[in-house]
Amino acid sequence: MAKLSDPVSILKGVGPAKVKQFAQLNIFTLRDLICHFPRAYEDRTKLVTIEKLEVDTPACFKAMVMNTPRVSHIRKGLDITKVQVADHTARLNLTFFNNRYVVDQLQYGKEYIFYGAVSGDFIGYNMTNPVFEALTSPPVTTRRVLPIYPLTAGLSNAAMLKAVRQALAICDPPAEILPEEVRRKFGILGADRAYYAIHEPNDMVEAELAKKRLIFEEFFVFSAGLSLMRAARAEKKTLPFTHLDLKPFLAALPFRLTGAQMRAIEEMRKDFAGGSPMNRLVQGDVGSGKTMVAAAAAYLAANNGKQSALMAPTEILAEQHYASMKKLFGPMGIRVGLLTGSMTPKEKRLTREAIASGEIQLAVGTHALLTDSTVFNDLGLVIADEQHRFGVAQRSRLSAKGDAPHLLVMSATPIPRTLALLMYGDLEVSIIDELPPGREPVDTFLVGESYRPRINAFIRKQVAEGHQCFVVCPAVEENEDLGIKAATVWADTLQQTVFPDLRIALLHGQMKGAEKEEAMASFARGEADVMVATTVIEVGVDVPNATLMVIEDADRFGLSQLHQLRGRVGRGGAKSYCILTSHNKNTETLQRLKALCKTTDGFKIAEEDLKLRGPGDFFGSRQSGLPTFRVANLSYDLQTLKDAQAASAQWIDEAGTKDTPEAIALRERIGELFLRAEGTMN
Ligand code: ADP
Ligand code: MG
Repeated sequence: MAKLSDPVSILKGVGPAKVKQFAQLNIFTLRDLICHFPRAYEDRTKLVTIEKLEVDTPACFKAMVMNTPRVSHIRKGLDITKVQVADHTARLNLTFFNNRYVVDQLQYGKEYIFYGAVSGDFIGYNMTNPVFEALTSPPVTTRRVLPIYPLTAGLSNAAMLKAVRQALAICDPPAEILPEEVRRKFGILGADRAYYAIHEPNDMVEAELAKKRLIFEEFFVFSAGLSLMRAARAEKKTLPFTHLDLKPFLAALPFRLTGAQMRAIEEMRKDFAGGSPMNRLVQGDVGSGKTMVAAAAAYLAANNGKQSALMAPTEILAEQHYASMKKLFGPMGIRVGLLTGSMTPKEKRLTREAIASGEIQLAVGTHALLTDSTVFNDLGLVIADEQHRFGVAQRSRLSAKGDAPHLLVMSATPIPRTLALLMYGDLEVSIIDELPPGREPVDTFLVGESYRPRINAFIRKQVAEGHQCFVVCPAVEENEDLGIKAATVWADTLQQTVFPDLRIALLHGQMKGAEKEEAMASFARGEADVMVATTVIEVGVDVPNATLMVIEDADRFGLSQLHQLRGRVGRGGAKSYCILTSHNKNTETLQRLKALCKTTDGFKIAEEDLKLRGPGDFFGSRQSGLPTFRVANLSYDLQTLKDAQAASAQWIDEAGTKDTPEAIALRERIGELFLRAEGTMN
């Protein structure tokens, strides 16, 4: 018997080339392979008659070969084999390209099972390249439900299936972790069957059951893990802060904090005064002023002799935070430092020294701040901005640090409560549900292509008034299939033909990290009038001078994503606008986009999004901070998610310490989950 942790190379037929291909798919061990679930299935279980075959709809049928297959050599590299088959309802001509073996395999007068689609472009029906099997051979490509796997270049679906089947034959599937009560209550397939059935179900009903089970299982493990993490942290002790006066800080601010900001700060203050490390998520819409909440926390830490680390997802955001923190804290005598990857080695070394000596009280930077080479003198508070890049793995790693610093995570992604529980079950949550006063909502419009001249004129007007514009496209490069706008092409068009006199900049995800940062920084400095970009601009960059956001083919984005994008404008004093364009005529789609025009409440939008698109999009998208869900590609319903969550909460309460085989296996799985998340972190 092999172990789940054994490398795929122990399988027969898996040599170095295959190992590489599997690695492309993040498959290294037998467990990875067994957990590489099909993305879809083809139901080839039903046999139809030839008469019932529908054009372009593949199906299985049984037929007899009516003549000896004939090969014609058309030209070099092109052979065509033709053969006629029939059942009691009709005859059908089959054509095979470059498949001479057919001649040997299909015998005159014998019956076979075929799978293929008829094309209707000839007189009568014709079928090209069907797969077939003899009646007596075991069902491999016909008479079964065929799993369709996510693949990579050089790796065929058949090869994947073969490898998975072999793996399942030589080792036991992952152990059962769901308590029997839970399985019974929710009608859930046992692990011993589910891991086989997900790959080779007897029928589509079983495929669905297996899928449900595995989705349930994954959410269950994750929720349980977060609960355990939360319980473990609650047991950690830390010295309470004793200096909790915020008056000097508040007096130094150029504005009054909103009620919501004050509430969040008050909640933090209570955490600091208690004896265990804070684990708090501050959720607030774009522009709600989360940075000031972070600043208040850093202020309190400094006054209690502790260092703080403020982490941003990108260098440019880090630099922006550094500038504003320095401005705020400089006069108060709190020393702020910056540490980013693009600094020279010498600069980095000096900064690290100042962090190690405790001279720097608030260190601002990217994730580099938390690597081992950065040693703090006395780190008391870690603040992570834009949470979705700071996932559960980082959280668990952080709390594993001996000194157990307070943790403050800030997110602008309003996540519906159901999902929030799952994703941040280990955190307390403060919500900033109020924008600073005087903030005018961004006016949002949905328009069709006939408005193009007006859009262009409007861009021109904004620029003439000294403002800047974003134009967001759904794709980087031209893609004929979809006919959607590509950033590279559109930037070119705008520069060459529409606005030859304006400065057009380009930003997309395929650019190198440093290039991206520079493009963004340059735009923030006002060195371009219009920035054509993909969604890479989504994360918190502040260009207060930008007053117009045009989103091309807006129907391509989720509502929450559109809302995030829209949050890139309206950050300065000037009135701002968002224009959504769409060719889409679907009423529902347009309804969805119109909803966005009417509301600016991120939570409402997120709930709406969840209803319309299902949770898959939340987990599937980069935003979730949960890159490790294997089921993210399987579609699933919200109810399963809720059930899994409820079940795991109950399990933790009632049976968290039980030593049943399931409980032991679950604890093991939780450990692996967080380890794996850790591995994929950077
Ligand atoms: P976000 O929550 O998106 O991180 P920021 O913290 O960047 O928002 O704040 C957005 C802008 O609002 C900043 O320019 C900030 O200085 C300003 N701001 C924050 N709080 C207030 C307030 N209470 N009154 C007025 N302006 C504020
Ligand atoms: Mg922010």
